[in-house]
Amino acid sequence: MVSVPETSVVSQTRFEPVIGLEVHVQLLTATKIFCSCSTRFGAAPNSNVCPVCLGMPGALPVLNKTVVEFATLAAIALNCQVNETSIFARKNYFYPDLPKGYQISQYDKPLAEHGFIEVPAGGGSKKKIGITRVHLEEDAGKSLHEGFPDADEKTAIDLNRTGVPLIEIVSEPDIATPDEAYEYLTRLKEIILYTGVSDCNMEEGSLRCDANVSVRPRGQKELGTKTEIKNVNSFRFIREALIYEIGRQVEVIESGGKITQETRLYNSNEGKTYSMRSKEQAHDYRYFPEPDLLPLVVDAKWKAEIAQTLPELPEARRERMVKEYGITEYDAQVLTFSRALADQFESAAKAAKNPKRVANLVQSELMGRLKAKGLDIEHSPISMAGVAASADLVESGAISGKMLKDLYDLCFERGKDFSAVYEEEGRPRQSSDTSALEKAIDEVLAANPKQLEQYRAGKTTMIGFFVGQVMKASKGQANPQLVNELLTKKLG
Ligand SMILES: [Zn+2]
Repeated sequence: MVSVPETSVVSQTRFEPVIGLEVHVQLLTATKIFCSCSTRFGAAPNSNVCPVCLGMPGALPVLNKTVVEFATLAAIALNCQVNETSIFARKNYFYPDLPKGYQISQYDKPLAEHGFIEVPAGGGSKKKIGITRVHLEEDAGKSLHEGFPDADEKTAIDLNRTGVPLIEIVSEPDIATPDEAYEYLTRLKEIILYTGVSDCNMEEGSLRCDANVSVRPRGQKELGTKTEIKNVNSFRFIREALIYEIGRQVEVIESGGKITQETRLYNSNEGKTYSMRSKEQAHDYRYFPEPDLLPLVVDAKWKAEIAQTLPELPEARRERMVKEYGITEYDAQVLTFSRALADQFESAAKAAKNPKRVANLVQSELMGRLKAKGLDIEHSPISMAGVAASADLVESGAISGKMLKDLYDLCFERGKDFSAVYEEEGRPRQSSDTSALEKAIDEVLAANPKQLEQYRAGKTTMIGFFVGQVMKASKGQANPQLVNELLTKKLG
Protein backbone atom coordinates (compact mmCIF):
# COMPACT_ATOMS: atom_id res chain seq x y z
CA MET A 1 0.00 0.00 0.00
CA VAL A 2 1.23 3.47 -0.86
CA SER A 3 1.43 5.38 2.37
CA VAL A 4 0.15 8.91 2.43
CA PRO A 5 1.99 11.45 4.57
CA GLU A 6 0.50 12.32 7.95
CA THR A 7 -1.55 15.49 7.91
CA SER A 8 0.32 18.15 9.78
CA VAL A 9 -2.63 20.51 10.24
CA VAL A 10 -4.37 18.16 12.60
CA SER A 11 -1.59 16.56 14.54
CA GLN A 12 -0.16 19.93 15.49
CA THR A 13 -3.27 21.21 17.18
CA ARG A 14 -5.17 20.27 20.27
CA PHE A 15 -8.24 19.41 18.20
CA GLU A 16 -9.25 16.07 16.78
CA PRO A 17 -11.35 15.67 13.66
CA VAL A 18 -14.36 13.36 13.41
CA ILE A 19 -15.17 12.23 9.89
CA GLY A 20 -18.06 10.23 8.45
CA LEU A 21 -18.48 9.38 4.77
CA GLU A 22 -21.55 8.89 2.62
CA VAL A 23 -20.84 7.05 -0.59
CA HIS A 24 -23.32 6.62 -3.44
CA VAL A 25 -22.60 3.72 -5.73
CA GLN A 26 -24.48 3.15 -8.96
CA LEU A 27 -25.45 -0.47 -9.48
CA LEU A 28 -24.50 -2.02 -12.78
CA THR A 29 -27.94 -3.28 -13.82
CA ALA A 30 -29.08 -3.02 -17.44
CA THR A 31 -32.32 -1.29 -16.46
CA LYS A 32 -33.45 1.25 -13.87
CA ILE A 33 -34.64 0.47 -10.36
CA PHE A 34 -38.42 0.94 -10.88
CA CYS A 35 -38.89 0.73 -14.68
CA SER A 36 -37.37 -1.04 -17.67
CA CYS A 37 -35.55 2.00 -19.12
CA SER A 38 -31.88 1.48 -19.98
CA THR A 39 -29.21 2.75 -17.58
CA ARG A 40 -26.63 3.18 -20.34
CA PHE A 41 -24.31 6.14 -19.79
CA GLY A 42 -23.81 8.62 -22.63
CA ALA A 43 -27.15 8.12 -24.43
CA ALA A 44 -28.79 11.16 -26.08
CA PRO A 45 -30.42 13.36 -23.40
CA ASN A 46 -33.91 12.28 -22.33
CA SER A 47 -33.89 9.18 -24.53
CA ASN A 48 -33.94 6.61 -21.72
CA VAL A 49 -37.17 7.72 -20.06
CA CYS A 50 -40.73 6.50 -19.56
CA PRO A 51 -43.82 7.60 -17.60
CA VAL A 52 -42.48 5.90 -14.43
CA CYS A 53 -39.08 7.61 -14.27
CA LEU A 54 -40.56 10.88 -15.59
CA GLY A 55 -42.87 10.83 -12.57
CA MET A 56 -46.11 11.01 -14.57
CA PRO A 57 -49.25 10.92 -12.43
CA GLY A 58 -50.60 7.39 -12.04
CA ALA A 59 -47.43 5.61 -13.19
CA LEU A 60 -46.41 2.96 -10.66
CA PRO A 61 -42.92 1.75 -9.77
CA VAL A 62 -42.01 -1.95 -10.11
CA LEU A 63 -38.89 -3.01 -8.20
CA ASN A 64 -36.04 -4.51 -10.25
CA LYS A 65 -35.04 -7.84 -8.68
CA THR A 66 -31.41 -7.63 -9.83
CA VAL A 67 -31.06 -4.31 -8.02
CA VAL A 68 -31.98 -6.04 -4.75
CA GLU A 69 -29.55 -8.88 -5.44
CA PHE A 70 -26.69 -6.52 -6.24
CA ALA A 71 -27.34 -4.31 -3.22
CA THR A 72 -27.59 -7.34 -0.93
CA LEU A 73 -24.35 -8.76 -2.31
CA ALA A 74 -22.58 -5.44 -1.67
CA ALA A 75 -24.00 -5.29 1.85
CA ILE A 76 -22.76 -8.82 2.61
CA ALA A 77 -19.31 -7.96 1.22
CA LEU A 78 -19.27 -4.94 3.58
CA ASN A 79 -19.95 -7.22 6.56
CA CYS A 80 -23.46 -5.83 7.08
CA GLN A 81 -26.48 -7.56 8.59
CA VAL A 82 -29.15 -7.69 5.90
CA ASN A 83 -32.60 -6.88 7.28
CA GLU A 84 -35.23 -9.39 6.26
CA THR A 85 -37.71 -6.57 5.78
CA SER A 86 -36.84 -3.08 4.64
CA ILE A 87 -39.13 -0.24 3.70
CA PHE A 88 -38.97 2.22 0.83
CA ALA A 89 -39.65 5.82 1.80
CA ARG A 90 -40.27 9.08 0.01
CA LYS A 91 -37.67 11.78 0.52
CA ASN A 92 -39.45 14.98 -0.42
CA TYR A 93 -37.63 17.97 -1.87
CA PHE A 94 -37.94 20.22 -4.84
CA TYR A 95 -35.24 20.28 -7.47
CA PRO A 96 -35.53 20.84 -11.23
CA ASP A 97 -33.98 17.44 -12.00
CA LEU A 98 -36.37 15.56 -9.71
CA PRO A 99 -39.62 15.26 -11.69
CA LYS A 100 -41.72 13.54 -8.99
CA GLY A 101 -40.80 16.11 -6.34
CA TYR A 102 -39.57 13.24 -4.18
CA GLN A 103 -36.92 10.56 -4.38
CA ILE A 104 -37.70 6.96 -3.47
CA SER A 105 -35.13 5.96 -0.87
CA GLN A 106 -35.05 4.05 2.40
CA TYR A 107 -35.13 5.75 5.77
CA ASP A 108 -35.74 4.12 9.14
CA LYS A 109 -35.75 0.54 7.81
CA PRO A 110 -32.79 0.29 5.43
CA LEU A 111 -31.74 -2.83 3.52
CA ALA A 112 -28.69 -3.50 5.69
CA GLU A 113 -26.91 -2.21 8.82
CA HIS A 114 -23.97 -2.68 11.19
CA GLY A 115 -21.15 -3.45 8.77
CA PHE A 116 -17.50 -2.49 8.75
CA ILE A 117 -14.43 -2.08 6.58
CA GLU A 118 -10.92 -2.70 7.87
CA VAL A 119 -8.23 -0.18 7.05
CA PRO A 120 -4.50 -0.43 7.77
CA ALA A 121 -3.62 1.43 10.96
CA GLY A 122 0.17 1.29 10.88
CA GLY A 123 2.57 -1.35 12.17
CA GLY A 124 0.60 -4.12 10.49
CA SER A 125 -2.46 -3.50 12.65
CA LYS A 126 -5.96 -2.84 11.33
CA LYS A 127 -8.76 -0.52 12.34
CA LYS A 128 -12.45 -1.25 11.84
CA ILE A 129 -14.49 1.61 10.41
CA GLY A 130 -18.16 0.99 11.11
CA ILE A 131 -20.79 1.10 8.40
CA THR A 132 -24.06 2.39 9.80
CA ARG A 133 -26.24 1.35 6.89
CA VAL A 134 -26.53 0.42 3.25
CA HIS A 135 -29.79 1.49 1.65
CA LEU A 136 -31.36 1.48 -1.79
CA GLU A 137 -32.48 4.57 -3.63
CA GLU A 138 -33.11 5.97 -7.07
CA ASP A 139 -30.89 8.60 -8.67
CA ALA A 140 -32.13 12.03 -9.71
CA GLY A 141 -31.64 13.57 -13.17
CA LYS A 142 -28.96 16.00 -14.21
CA SER A 143 -29.02 19.76 -14.71
CA LEU A 144 -26.82 20.75 -17.64
CA HIS A 145 -25.20 24.16 -17.79
CA GLU A 146 -23.14 23.76 -20.95
CA GLY A 147 -22.94 21.90 -24.25
CA PHE A 148 -26.16 23.15 -25.89
CA PRO A 149 -27.38 26.38 -27.59
CA ASP A 150 -28.36 29.21 -25.18
CA ALA A 151 -26.32 27.52 -22.44
CA ASP A 152 -25.27 30.95 -21.18
CA GLU A 153 -28.90 31.85 -20.45
CA LYS A 154 -30.60 28.54 -19.80
CA THR A 155 -30.23 25.33 -17.85
CA ALA A 156 -31.22 22.07 -19.55
CA ILE A 157 -32.46 18.95 -17.81
CA ASP A 158 -31.45 15.41 -18.76
CA LEU A 159 -33.60 12.77 -17.09
CA ASN A 160 -31.75 9.68 -18.36
CA ARG A 161 -30.22 9.24 -14.92
CA THR A 162 -33.56 9.53 -13.12
CA GLY A 163 -34.36 6.18 -11.55
CA VAL A 164 -30.90 4.69 -12.01
CA PRO A 165 -30.31 2.35 -9.03
CA LEU A 166 -27.98 3.47 -6.25
CA ILE A 167 -26.88 2.17 -2.93
CA GLU A 168 -25.88 4.67 -0.29
CA ILE A 169 -23.22 3.44 2.10
CA VAL A 170 -23.05 5.51 5.28
CA SER A 171 -20.08 5.13 7.59
CA GLU A 172 -20.01 5.65 11.33
CA PRO A 173 -18.10 8.79 12.39
CA ASP A 174 -15.15 6.47 13.12
CA ILE A 175 -12.70 8.08 10.74
CA ALA A 176 -10.07 10.11 12.57
CA THR A 177 -7.88 11.55 9.80
CA PRO A 178 -8.06 12.47 6.11
CA ASP A 179 -5.62 9.59 5.47
CA GLU A 180 -8.03 7.14 7.05
CA ALA A 181 -10.82 8.55 4.91
CA TYR A 182 -8.67 7.94 1.84
CA GLU A 183 -7.94 4.37 2.94
CA TYR A 184 -11.59 3.68 3.72
CA LEU A 185 -12.67 4.85 0.27
CA THR A 186 -9.92 2.88 -1.45
CA ARG A 187 -10.95 -0.32 0.36
CA LEU A 188 -14.62 0.33 -0.21
CA LYS A 189 -14.15 0.80 -3.94
CA GLU A 190 -11.95 -2.30 -4.14
CA ILE A 191 -14.55 -4.45 -2.38
CA ILE A 192 -17.42 -3.16 -4.51
CA LEU A 193 -15.40 -3.70 -7.69
CA TYR A 194 -14.67 -7.29 -6.64
CA THR A 195 -18.36 -7.99 -6.14
CA GLY A 196 -18.94 -6.73 -9.69
CA VAL A 197 -22.12 -4.83 -8.75
CA SER A 198 -20.71 -1.46 -9.90
CA ASP A 199 -17.91 -0.16 -12.12
CA CYS A 200 -17.24 2.59 -9.50
CA ASN A 201 -16.31 4.99 -12.31
CA MET A 202 -15.99 8.38 -10.61
CA GLU A 203 -15.82 10.34 -13.87
CA GLU A 204 -19.17 8.97 -14.96
CA GLY A 205 -20.59 9.46 -11.48
CA SER A 206 -20.95 5.76 -10.63
CA LEU A 207 -19.24 6.47 -7.32
CA ARG A 208 -19.83 9.74 -5.48
CA CYS A 209 -18.73 10.70 -2.03
CA ASP A 210 -19.85 13.29 0.50
CA ALA A 211 -17.88 13.83 3.70
CA ASN A 212 -19.19 14.99 7.06
CA VAL A 213 -16.51 16.54 9.21
CA SER A 214 -16.32 18.24 12.58
CA VAL A 215 -13.58 18.95 15.09
CA ARG A 216 -13.56 18.83 18.89
CA PRO A 217 -10.96 19.43 21.59
CA ARG A 218 -9.03 16.21 22.21
CA GLY A 219 -10.62 14.24 25.02
CA GLN A 220 -14.07 15.82 24.60
CA LYS A 221 -16.87 13.30 24.11
CA GLU A 222 -19.47 15.58 22.58
CA LEU A 223 -19.22 16.09 18.82
CA GLY A 224 -18.62 19.50 17.31
CA THR A 225 -20.89 21.05 14.66
CA LYS A 226 -20.28 19.34 11.35
CA THR A 227 -20.14 20.55 7.79
CA GLU A 228 -20.76 18.43 4.73
CA ILE A 229 -18.42 18.51 1.75
CA LYS A 230 -20.24 17.50 -1.41
CA ASN A 231 -19.45 16.36 -4.93
CA VAL A 232 -15.73 15.79 -4.73
CA ASN A 233 -14.67 13.75 -7.74
CA SER A 234 -11.57 11.91 -6.60
CA PHE A 235 -10.31 10.26 -3.41
CA ARG A 236 -7.22 12.44 -3.51
CA PHE A 237 -9.38 15.58 -3.60
CA ILE A 238 -11.49 14.28 -0.71
CA ARG A 239 -8.34 13.92 1.34
CA GLU A 240 -7.24 17.43 0.36
CA ALA A 241 -10.71 18.89 0.99
CA LEU A 242 -10.76 17.32 4.47
CA ILE A 243 -7.31 18.65 5.31
CA TYR A 244 -8.41 22.13 4.28
CA GLU A 245 -11.79 21.93 6.01
CA ILE A 246 -10.35 20.64 9.30
CA GLY A 247 -7.81 23.46 9.28
CA ARG A 248 -10.56 25.99 8.54
CA GLN A 249 -12.79 24.74 11.38
CA VAL A 250 -9.94 24.78 13.89
CA GLU A 251 -9.08 28.33 12.85
CA VAL A 252 -12.70 29.50 13.21
CA ILE A 253 -13.00 27.96 16.69
CA GLU A 254 -9.62 29.15 17.90
CA SER A 255 -10.42 32.69 16.86
CA GLY A 256 -13.62 32.57 18.92
CA GLY A 257 -16.06 31.86 16.06
CA LYS A 258 -18.69 29.18 15.63
CA ILE A 259 -19.04 26.53 12.94
CA THR A 260 -22.27 26.74 10.97
CA GLN A 261 -23.91 23.49 9.94
CA GLU A 262 -23.82 23.77 6.18
CA THR A 263 -22.98 22.10 2.89
CA ARG A 264 -19.69 23.15 1.33
CA LEU A 265 -18.19 22.62 -2.10
CA TYR A 266 -14.52 21.88 -2.72
CA ASN A 267 -12.65 23.82 -5.38
CA SER A 268 -9.73 21.59 -6.33
CA ASN A 269 -7.93 24.37 -8.24
CA GLU A 270 -7.76 26.54 -5.15
CA GLY A 271 -7.68 23.70 -2.64
CA LYS A 272 -10.46 25.37 -0.63
CA THR A 273 -14.04 24.62 0.41
CA TYR A 274 -16.83 27.16 -0.06
CA SER A 275 -20.19 27.48 1.64
CA MET A 276 -22.99 26.32 -0.70
CA ARG A 277 -26.14 26.27 1.42
CA SER A 278 -27.27 25.62 4.95
CA LYS A 279 -27.61 21.91 5.57
CA GLU A 280 -31.06 20.34 5.57
CA GLN A 281 -32.07 18.32 8.59
CA ALA A 282 -33.73 14.94 8.13
CA HIS A 283 -37.12 16.38 9.12
CA ASP A 284 -36.91 18.89 6.25
CA TYR A 285 -37.42 15.97 3.88
CA ARG A 286 -40.70 14.84 5.46
CA TYR A 287 -39.85 11.17 4.95
CA PHE A 288 -42.82 8.81 4.88
CA PRO A 289 -43.28 5.19 3.73
CA GLU A 290 -43.65 4.86 -0.05
CA PRO A 291 -47.31 3.87 -0.56
CA ASP A 292 -46.72 2.48 -4.08
CA LEU A 293 -44.23 -0.20 -3.02
CA LEU A 294 -44.61 -3.19 -0.71
CA PRO A 295 -42.07 -3.76 2.04
CA LEU A 296 -38.96 -5.38 0.55
CA VAL A 297 -38.41 -8.88 1.92
CA VAL A 298 -35.05 -10.62 1.53
CA ASP A 299 -35.65 -13.89 3.36
CA ALA A 300 -32.95 -16.26 4.63
CA LYS A 301 -33.15 -18.51 1.57
CA TRP A 302 -32.76 -15.69 -0.96
CA LYS A 303 -30.01 -14.10 1.11
CA ALA A 304 -28.12 -17.41 1.19
CA GLU A 305 -28.45 -17.73 -2.59
CA ILE A 306 -27.03 -14.25 -3.05
CA ALA A 307 -24.24 -14.88 -0.53
CA GLN A 308 -23.17 -17.90 -2.60
CA THR A 309 -22.24 -15.61 -5.47
CA LEU A 310 -19.84 -13.62 -3.28
CA PRO A 311 -16.33 -13.93 -4.71
CA GLU A 312 -13.20 -14.17 -2.60
CA LEU A 313 -12.65 -10.58 -1.45
CA PRO A 314 -9.36 -8.72 -1.98
CA GLU A 315 -8.08 -8.85 1.61
CA ALA A 316 -8.56 -12.62 1.89
CA ARG A 317 -7.22 -13.14 -1.60
CA ARG A 318 -4.01 -11.24 -0.80
CA GLU A 319 -3.40 -13.32 2.31
CA ARG A 320 -3.88 -16.51 0.36
CA MET A 321 -1.68 -15.41 -2.55
CA VAL A 322 1.18 -14.49 -0.21
CA LYS A 323 1.04 -18.01 1.21
CA GLU A 324 0.41 -19.86 -2.02
CA TYR A 325 2.94 -18.15 -4.29
CA GLY A 326 5.48 -16.91 -1.78
CA ILE A 327 5.15 -13.32 -3.00
CA THR A 328 5.47 -10.21 -0.86
CA GLU A 329 2.44 -8.40 0.54
CA TYR A 330 3.23 -5.44 -1.67
CA ASP A 331 3.17 -7.59 -4.80
CA ALA A 332 -0.04 -9.25 -3.68
CA GLN A 333 -1.47 -5.75 -3.30
CA VAL A 334 -0.45 -4.84 -6.84
CA LEU A 335 -1.64 -8.14 -8.31
CA THR A 336 -5.05 -7.85 -6.67
CA PHE A 337 -5.52 -4.28 -7.92
CA SER A 338 -8.48 -5.59 -9.86
CA ARG A 339 -10.25 -8.91 -9.80
CA ALA A 340 -9.52 -9.34 -13.52
CA LEU A 341 -5.79 -8.90 -13.00
CA ALA A 342 -5.68 -11.26 -10.03
CA ASP A 343 -7.66 -13.83 -12.05
CA GLN A 344 -5.24 -13.44 -14.96
CA PHE A 345 -2.26 -13.87 -12.69
CA GLU A 346 -3.64 -16.92 -10.98
CA SER A 347 -4.77 -18.66 -14.14
CA ALA A 348 -1.37 -17.94 -15.77
CA ALA A 349 0.46 -19.16 -12.68
CA LYS A 350 -1.62 -22.32 -12.52
CA ALA A 351 -1.22 -23.05 -16.24
CA ALA A 352 2.55 -22.61 -16.06
CA LYS A 353 4.81 -25.55 -15.28
CA ASN A 354 6.00 -23.83 -12.14
CA PRO A 355 3.52 -21.34 -10.59
CA LYS A 356 6.08 -19.97 -8.20
CA ARG A 357 8.40 -19.07 -11.07
CA VAL A 358 5.61 -16.96 -12.57
CA ALA A 359 5.22 -15.15 -9.26
CA ASN A 360 9.00 -14.73 -9.01
CA LEU A 361 9.22 -13.28 -12.51
CA VAL A 362 6.42 -10.82 -11.76
CA GLN A 363 8.26 -9.79 -8.62
CA SER A 364 11.84 -9.78 -9.88
CA GLU A 365 11.54 -8.82 -13.56
CA LEU A 366 8.17 -7.18 -14.19
CA MET A 367 7.52 -4.85 -11.26
CA GLY A 368 10.85 -3.02 -11.48
CA ARG A 369 10.50 -2.41 -15.22
CA LEU A 370 6.94 -1.14 -14.75
CA LYS A 371 8.06 1.19 -12.00
CA ALA A 372 10.95 2.51 -14.08
CA LYS A 373 8.55 3.29 -16.93
CA GLY A 374 5.93 4.75 -14.58
CA LEU A 375 3.37 2.20 -15.78
CA ASP A 376 0.78 0.47 -13.68
CA ILE A 377 0.38 -3.24 -14.14
CA GLU A 378 -2.87 -2.88 -16.08
CA HIS A 379 -0.83 -1.19 -18.82
CA SER A 380 2.08 -3.61 -18.78
CA PRO A 381 3.27 -4.55 -22.29
CA ILE A 382 3.88 -8.07 -20.96
CA SER A 383 0.63 -9.79 -20.06
CA MET A 384 0.30 -12.39 -17.33
CA ALA A 385 0.04 -15.00 -20.08
CA GLY A 386 3.32 -13.63 -21.44
CA VAL A 387 4.98 -13.95 -18.06
CA ALA A 388 3.73 -17.54 -17.82
CA ALA A 389 5.04 -18.36 -21.31
CA SER A 390 8.45 -16.92 -20.46
CA ALA A 391 8.52 -18.85 -17.18
CA ASP A 392 7.91 -22.09 -19.07
CA LEU A 393 10.73 -21.33 -21.52
CA VAL A 394 13.16 -20.79 -18.65
CA GLU A 395 11.83 -23.88 -16.91
CA SER A 396 12.43 -26.07 -19.98
CA GLY A 397 15.87 -24.57 -20.54
CA ALA A 398 14.90 -23.14 -23.92
CA ILE A 399 16.07 -19.70 -22.82
CA SER A 400 18.44 -18.61 -20.10
CA GLY A 401 17.71 -16.13 -17.35
CA LYS A 402 19.92 -13.64 -19.12
CA MET A 403 18.00 -14.03 -22.38
CA LEU A 404 14.74 -13.57 -20.51
CA LYS A 405 15.95 -10.27 -19.08
CA ASP A 406 16.95 -9.08 -22.57
CA LEU A 407 13.61 -10.15 -24.01
CA TYR A 408 11.73 -8.34 -21.25
CA ASP A 409 13.75 -5.20 -22.01
CA LEU A 410 12.77 -5.50 -25.68
CA CYS A 411 9.10 -5.98 -24.75
CA PHE A 412 9.17 -2.70 -22.85
CA GLU A 413 11.11 -0.92 -25.62
CA ARG A 414 8.70 -2.07 -28.31
CA GLY A 415 5.53 -2.07 -26.22
CA LYS A 416 4.84 -5.67 -27.26
CA ASP A 417 3.88 -8.77 -25.34
CA PHE A 418 6.42 -11.49 -24.61
CA SER A 419 5.27 -14.02 -27.17
CA ALA A 420 5.44 -11.48 -30.01
CA VAL A 421 8.96 -10.36 -29.09
CA TYR A 422 10.05 -13.95 -28.53
CA GLU A 423 8.92 -14.81 -32.06
CA GLU A 424 10.80 -11.79 -33.41
CA GLU A 425 13.94 -12.21 -31.35
CA GLY A 426 13.95 -15.21 -29.14
CA ARG A 427 14.23 -18.08 -31.55
CA PRO A 428 16.93 -16.69 -33.81
CA ARG A 429 19.00 -15.51 -30.90
CA GLN A 430 19.08 -18.87 -29.22
CA SER A 431 22.52 -20.06 -30.04
CA SER A 432 21.82 -23.31 -31.83
CA ASP A 433 24.85 -22.97 -34.02
CA THR A 434 26.21 -26.45 -33.42
CA SER A 435 29.73 -25.90 -34.70
CA ALA A 436 30.24 -22.79 -32.51
CA LEU A 437 28.88 -24.67 -29.52
CA GLU A 438 31.12 -27.66 -30.18
CA LYS A 439 34.08 -25.33 -30.28
CA ALA A 440 33.03 -23.79 -26.96
CA ILE A 441 32.60 -27.26 -25.46
CA ASP A 442 36.09 -28.32 -26.57
CA GLU A 443 37.52 -25.20 -24.99
CA VAL A 444 35.70 -25.79 -21.71
CA LEU A 445 36.81 -29.44 -21.57
CA ALA A 446 40.39 -28.47 -22.32
CA ALA A 447 40.37 -25.80 -19.64
CA ASN A 448 39.05 -28.15 -16.96
CA PRO A 449 41.08 -31.38 -17.09
CA LYS A 450 40.53 -32.21 -13.40
CA GLN A 451 36.74 -32.13 -13.73
CA LEU A 452 36.96 -34.14 -16.94
CA GLU A 453 38.96 -36.80 -15.13
CA GLN A 454 36.35 -36.93 -12.36
CA TYR A 455 33.62 -37.33 -14.94
CA ARG A 456 35.45 -40.16 -16.65
CA ALA A 457 35.97 -41.80 -13.25
CA GLY A 458 32.19 -42.06 -12.94
CA LYS A 459 31.06 -38.76 -11.44
CA THR A 460 28.43 -38.17 -14.15
CA THR A 461 26.82 -35.27 -12.31
CA MET A 462 29.88 -33.30 -13.40
CA ILE A 463 28.04 -32.73 -16.70
CA GLY A 464 26.05 -29.97 -15.00
CA PHE A 465 29.30 -28.16 -14.30
CA PHE A 466 30.30 -28.35 -17.96
CA VAL A 467 26.91 -27.14 -19.16
CA GLY A 468 27.23 -24.21 -16.77
CA GLN A 469 30.69 -23.36 -18.08
CA VAL A 470 29.54 -23.47 -21.71
CA MET A 471 26.51 -21.31 -20.90
CA LYS A 472 28.82 -18.85 -19.19
CA ALA A 473 31.17 -18.81 -22.16
CA SER A 474 28.21 -18.11 -24.47
CA LYS A 475 27.06 -15.29 -22.16
CA GLY A 476 23.78 -17.08 -21.63
CA GLN A 477 22.93 -17.18 -25.32
CA ALA A 478 23.34 -20.92 -25.78
CA ASN A 479 20.44 -23.32 -25.66
CA PRO A 480 21.20 -25.35 -22.53
CA GLN A 481 19.36 -28.41 -23.82
CA LEU A 482 21.44 -28.46 -26.95
CA VAL A 483 24.63 -27.97 -24.94
CA ASN A 484 23.62 -30.90 -22.78
CA GLU A 485 23.03 -33.08 -25.85
CA LEU A 486 26.32 -32.17 -27.50
CA LEU A 487 28.27 -32.69 -24.30
CA THR A 488 26.75 -36.08 -23.69
CA LYS A 489 27.63 -37.11 -27.24
CA LYS A 490 31.19 -35.84 -26.92
CA LEU A 491 31.81 -37.42 -23.53
CA GLY A 492 29.95 -40.63 -24.23
ZN1 LIG B 1 -38.29 4.71 -17.10
